[in-house]
Amino acid sequence: MKDIRRTLVSRLLNNADEYIGREVDVKGWVRSRRGNKYVQFVALNDGSTVKSLQIVFDLTKFSDEELKAVTTGSSIHVQGLLVESAGKGQNVEIQADSLEVYGTASGEDYPLQKKGHSLEFLREIAHLRPRTNTFASVLRIRHALAYAIHKFFNDKGFYYFHTPLITASDCEGAGAQFQVTCLDVNEPPRDEEGKVDYSQDFFGKMASLTVSGQLEGELGATALGCIYTFGPTFRAENSNTPRHLSEFWMIEPEMAFYEIADNMDLAEEFIKYCIKYALEHCKDDIEFLAEHFDKELPERLRFVIDNDFVRLPYTEGIKILEQSGKKFEFPVYWGVDLASEHERYLVEEHFKKPVILTDYPKEIKAFYMKLNDDGKTVRAMDVLFPKIGEIIGGSQREENYDKLLARINELGLEGMDWYLDTRRFGTVPHSGFGLGFERLVLFVTGMQNIRDVIPFPRYPKNCEY
Ligand code: ATP
Ligand code: MN
Repeated sequence: MKDIRRTLVSRLLNNADEYIGREVDVKGWVRSRRGNKYVQFVALNDGSTVKSLQIVFDLTKFSDEELKAVTTGSSIHVQGLLVESAGKGQNVEIQADSLEVYGTASGEDYPLQKKGHSLEFLREIAHLRPRTNTFASVLRIRHALAYAIHKFFNDKGFYYFHTPLITASDCEGAGAQFQVTCLDVNEPPRDEEGKVDYSQDFFGKMASLTVSGQLEGELGATALGCIYTFGPTFRAENSNTPRHLSEFWMIEPEMAFYEIADNMDLAEEFIKYCIKYALEHCKDDIEFLAEHFDKELPERLRFVIDNDFVRLPYTEGIKILEQSGKKFEFPVYWGVDLASEHERYLVEEHFKKPVILTDYPKEIKAFYMKLNDDGKTVRAMDVLFPKIGEIIGGSQREENYDKLLARINELGLEGMDWYLDTRRFGTVPHSGFGLGFERLVLFVTGMQNIRDVIPFPRYPKNCEY
């Protein structure tokens, strides 16, 4: 494949033998310039790799005046000969023959002058942070993981199924929803009882942004066999944590004829595949992030690939926590919804491996999960990861019409006829799960805060750009 009107720096560096001795065109942004009165060295980055390409300007061919605009952040086009480099730090470099400056970034006001800005500062200038090596690396890894996800499911015969982002089903139960309305919020129409009259709203009823595509995903799976969704989800929770976003991307596979054990096998294979793909295709970026932020990153990634995940019923997990002798901030007892500290104790201190926790009390899980024979627990599975806590939440679904209807009535849910139809007509055992994409990116990049693994994070009191 030919690069358009320029050769990617990644291509030149990775296939240097093919290009050495040839005239090439590169275009990109200047990271730095240094040198003396005979020769100037420019580090050029074009976004294709974390590595910059060295460009050598011979000052007998270029004047000081010409090079003056070539400062950190400026954008340039260089033609020249690719040669082996005699200097330290790079194998090849370009001997420039011509220079074109697209845009200058002169003056002290370019915020990315010096290296080593804090991640907190960069979050405040999120419109420019993709230009840093750190964010460009994270974003390339994010891309590779997205591609790996589609490849994994496509190769397995799953269909990419598009579920709606605007929904009027308020039974998803996965989290608080953002409302979508075209009514005048200052003076909404009201009915006789004085309540807002949504029949006059755009959709003729109250609508929200989706918190999960699962229920619609089940409609796909009970027709196409195996499907997956991969799209944005929205949760209006006031969770100011390093693991929650208000807008995040979720992958939700849903499979007809899968029981809970098949579901666990798929989840484990899937995560391992994605991590392995990143290790193989994002070597330079992972190395860069390891060197600058997290020395143990590559080892941690390999460890997850090489080891079986522990599979443990919730009830056993509670016993381990109770017998741990550890003082937790939140008390542990059967029936409690585990807090992050509990999950991380099991994963990081007790097993020292990813854990799939199963068979949770039905009270703390969603209405659609399949009831176990004990009548108390459901076939839920949460995959718990070191440093992240819950990375996947899933379950086998209740396929029995009567049991599902009873649970829906017990909880007083309304408007579920369309969903119940999957159980009325040709019902099948089926399962699925949801993986938070940013939690996966967080794990693979070794970043500490989920706000640093998405280009434009949305969280409480923040909606820039
Ligand atoms: P948590 O307990 O961590 O808040 P949850 O139980 O609400 O998560 P689920 O409804 O099971 O999450 O959603 C499935 C997956 O989506 C989770 O396992 C997680 O990876 C991801 N996820 C959930 N909420 C968020 C969020 N606010 N930001 C980013 N990812 C999220
Ligand atoms: Mn969950």
